Amino acid sequence: MNIATFHARLKDKLKFSDLVSKLAEVSGYEPLFGAACQRLVERLEPFGINEPPLGLSGLQVEVLIAPDTGSCIVVKTSPGLLTGLPEVYADLMSLSTAEVADIPRIVSEAFGLTAEPGSVRSAQEERRLSQVLGELSPNGKMLADPTVRAAARRLYDDELRSDLSAITSAVGDSPVPADILGQMETFRRRRQRLKDIVSDQSLAQKHFLVFCKSCGLPHLAFDTPERAAAVIADVNGKCGTCQKKELFVEESYAIAQAIVRAIQQGLWLESLVSDVMCERARVVWSGQMVGTNEIDVLSVCAEKVVLIECKDAPLGQNDVYVTAMKAEDVGADAVIMVTTNEVHPNVRDAVKRLGAGARSARTFTLISQDCCEAIRRDLSIELDRMQNAHVKGWVTELAPTAGRRFFLTR
Ligand SMILES: [Zn+2]
Repeated sequence: MNIATFHARLKDKLKFSDLVSKLAEVSGYEPLFGAACQRLVERLEPFGINEPPLGLSGLQVEVLIAPDTGSCIVVKTSPGLLTGLPEVYADLMSLSTAEVADIPRIVSEAFGLTAEPGSVRSAQEERRLSQVLGELSPNGKMLADPTVRAAARRLYDDELRSDLSAITSAVGDSPVPADILGQMETFRRRRQRLKDIVSDQSLAQKHFLVFCKSCGLPHLAFDTPERAAAVIADVNGKCGTCQKKELFVEESYAIAQAIVRAIQQGLWLESLVSDVMCERARVVWSGQMVGTNEIDVLSVCAEKVVLIECKDAPLGQNDVYVTAMKAEDVGADAVIMVTTNEVHPNVRDAVKRLGAGARSARTFTLISQDCCEAIRRDLSIELDRMQNAHVKGWVTELAPTAGRRFFLTR
């Protein structure tokens, strides 16, 4: 289902019923609740009841449905009481399994107003967060580099990530002769695989290494074999360490620095989580400082501030408490912790206890998966669950924002 939300600041004295009928007129959609109320009144009229029963007449929510019933627009107003803002806003949510309603066009044609993206509540939260957030964190700066981001995305391939991790954890980004890499357990029976990796220029760079066959020590690395040979000629082929004339030029390979960083700093995981978030949220912050703390991924999704912490390593109890502090700092409604490792029962308990805190509406979710597909799936399930509850709440809760904290922006 396609979901899109907008809000528009209303002119003074615009009655909800007038708002709805004008939107219905311009869009050609039928007001579902209004039509139902009308039918109720018609059937009650013979008994002398000519008004909708109870609170139905005062409803400040309406669903406008398309003639083909494949899409609808949920309309409601947010009075100042709920938003903390002096003005009255209309929130409009388009839901569609077919053609999406063009809300900005409809609102503009109906009232000459501009529909801004996001509900008034989510726009408020986005504004608030942009003021709370500091500069990019070290990881955020790296992810902002297109080369590093592209490297991070290539690592969504679990097998490739595991092979490259084997190399980087052994030698980092140093150039190593292909022979020596081939002796690694991972590649002993997979020589072609190693060949494919080192010949891919976005993964590895070829170097020409001055190498001593006697003591086995690598010396300097050069971009061309000629330059390496020239250096050997300068010292008459003599190794500076063992003094033997055993220096040779060896073709060697170094894993690209962007890949090494993306693996060692767990950037691939932050990138993956950000990508999943971006499919559902308009604004996603990846790698931000809040005070002295680093935040991995932050966004407003389904009117909730969602904080996601990523750990491509074991998640300890302390990590959980630090995350809870960060959640407090940014006023997060939902906290999701993603780790690629198994989680100790004590840590699971800590997460559960935080989520069960009676005075807090904040939810805590733990995702422990080691392959990208499963991380993506579990995260999507959690976000979809939030989204579905949110969509339902728009229609079923008369004051959907009641009982929640408000952050006024100044
Ligand atoms: Zn030597």
